[in-house]
Amino acid sequence: MGYVRFLLSIAAVSVLNGCAGSNHLGSNNLRAGIDPNNASTVAKHSVADGMTSKNTPLATVRPVAKITSVSPADKLIALTFDDGPRPYVLFGRKAVHPAPGLVDILDQNGVKATFFVVGWRLTPKTWGEPKHEEDIGVSCLDAAEQLIRRGHELEDHTYSHLELRSAEKKNGEQWVMHDVDRGAQAIKAVTGTQPRYVRPPDWILTDDARRDLQKQGYRVLTISQENPIALRDVNSLDYLCAGKAVGCPKPSLPDAVLQQIEQRERKGTYTHILAFHELSTTAAIMPKLITELKARGYRFVTLTEYMKLVETKNEIPKQQAAVTKPTSVAALSR
Ligand SMILES: [Zn+2]
Repeated sequence: MGYVRFLLSIAAVSVLNGCAGSNHLGSNNLRAGIDPNNASTVAKHSVADGMTSKNTPLATVRPVAKITSVSPADKLIALTFDDGPRPYVLFGRKAVHPAPGLVDILDQNGVKATFFVVGWRLTPKTWGEPKHEEDIGVSCLDAAEQLIRRGHELEDHTYSHLELRSAEKKNGEQWVMHDVDRGAQAIKAVTGTQPRYVRPPDWILTDDARRDLQKQGYRVLTISQENPIALRDVNSLDYLCAGKAVGCPKPSLPDAVLQQIEQRERKGTYTHILAFHELSTTAAIMPKLITELKARGYRFVTLTEYMKLVETKNEIPKQQAAVTKPTSVAALSR
């Protein structure tokens, strides 16, 4: 894909997280995604004390979307994070490069988010990609359970995190269906609930696969400009701010995201799905971004609540909302 090759040309491979250029990376990185900020191995610490008891059935504590307002004046943000669970990002680090955890940041700001997780991480005794991710003594599976207990949502970012168009060419469409389903099963084993939303790695999917996933009941998230703007992911480009931050949007990531939101507001759109990744650099900018968006009158909702509210507001006819169009390279290259 030209866009990915362009990114690779301006950034070291290690700068790209798992959502970009996965078919160009080595097999481990293919599946894991990378946060090179944290490539060094440091002493373990545990946040086990902060973990909720495992005895509570997770299905009973999964948050139920609570619609408190259907005012047309609603200004909504659905914060989403791909490629995890990455425990050291979610719960922070105390060792060489201390950093607050993303989950605490969200809690402190009263924000519930939606995490598009990678299925292979939800297998027992998986701590992430050892070469690039700090082991803080919390498995990815424990981290996923903690996300649910703290009121966040998990949705499907496939099992393998392979770029699906290339994978389909190699393995056939059934393989793609199976990869998405396998990711969904891994999530359901944690939450007790079938995930409804799929965000393909790099937003790349063939028309046929997209249509068939929709037939299976999935809703496929996209950045294609052919889709209703309120349902179109806002690509934060946060993966360009990891590592050496070559290509990180100017003047800063939060400012660049706010500029994208302002552009959408000029088109009369005040509801936004923001696509970020589980990266330390992304966690670090969240307090500023959340504060700024709240000051502008936005409130934060999970993706489930977002979809209900946006459809309730009749911004998008339901029939249209259920149909997503294929992502084009042109859309990716914007
Ligand atoms: Zn990804």
